[in-house]
Amino acid sequence: MSDAPRPAEPPRIDRLAPVVGSVLDLIGRTPMVELKKFDTGRCRLFLKLESQNPGGSIKDRIAVSMIADAERTGRLKPGGTIVEATAGNTGLGLAQVGIPKGYRIVLVVPDKMSREKVQHLRALGAEVHLTRSDVGKGHPEYYSDMAARIARETPGAFHVDQFANPANPLAHEETTGPELWQQLGGDIDAVVVGVGSGGTLTGLGRFFARLSPKTEMVLADPAGSVLAPFVKTGRLEEAGSWTVEGIGEDFVPPNADLSLVRKAYSITDKQSMLAVRDLLAREGILAGSSSGTLLSAALRYCREQTEPKRVVTFVCDSGNKYLSKVFDDVWLAEQGLAEREQHGDLTDIVA
Ligand code: PMP
Repeated sequence: MSDAPRPAEPPRIDRLAPVVGSVLDLIGRTPMVELKKFDTGRCRLFLKLESQNPGGSIKDRIAVSMIADAERTGRLKPGGTIVEATAGNTGLGLAQVGIPKGYRIVLVVPDKMSREKVQHLRALGAEVHLTRSDVGKGHPEYYSDMAARIARETPGAFHVDQFANPANPLAHEETTGPELWQQLGGDIDAVVVGVGSGGTLTGLGRFFARLSPKTEMVLADPAGSVLAPFVKTGRLEEAGSWTVEGIGEDFVPPNADLSLVRKAYSITDKQSMLAVRDLLAREGILAGSSSGTLLSAALRYCREQTEPKRVVTFVCDSGNKYLSKVFDDVWLAEQGLAEREQHGDLTDIVA
């Protein structure tokens, strides 16, 4: 027997994540960071890091709930095909959840979306149809119309339709909302969200309307999108174009209950890009472009408050997917987004 001394007990590690049986068990329960390096006026501003989901975005949550719902209701059968129109992240979630279950995944993605997302989708085994970004609803090459057509023409296809699928907002009402509530001790004055499909807005809006009517839903919308102007004026204007990915729309999706929005901000691409670069430079958080829009609006909201408030917003996905875009100086200059004429988080208020 060796008389070498027994090793001392290893140090205890706090907040250690559990060991799980599948990476899908790691969806949700995302961490939260309080921002300390920005001027947040009288507010405390928290960021929930949805980029930490296994598929890399907030959309993993809805992939789980929409696939489970389709299986339960018999719309998706073993060996079936899942078809969806997506800016990329919903597709990543669907592929992450659906491919290990043996489903074929067919996605229609507008061609303005980053190459990294498309490469990631193909690496997961999804079939990606790239389509035009410059056409609107009603055009045969518009991404959601094209997905609907592919679904009609494919036997055994389940068209997910995140824009109208009730299991999308339900995922946020049942998981994201309770997590925010628990992490912030049940005291939240405002939640700043973007709208792509509207699932986050509507799910969280319903959750807080029930539990905490004081909590304001704040919309962060890319300039050019019709949503923030609609909240302000009640009129649907002609959509412009924007480069931020995943949020902003040229129509009001059925899943977006805009009556839940108390305040809306239109944020320019330049403001979004500068905000997300500031987030990396100051806080070391590598976030995607839509998170820049959310952060910019959240900072604006915070600085308008005259009372201390607790505000939360999201890092919807990681900046890894945009290294060749927002984090590339040449790309930024080519887009005319490079000069810092004003600080990234000073924005024009819309409503
Ligand atoms: N951010 C990113 C990066 C996204 O891809 C999306 C969804 N397309 C959103 C935000 C918006 O979320 P929702 O669809 O729930 O409105």
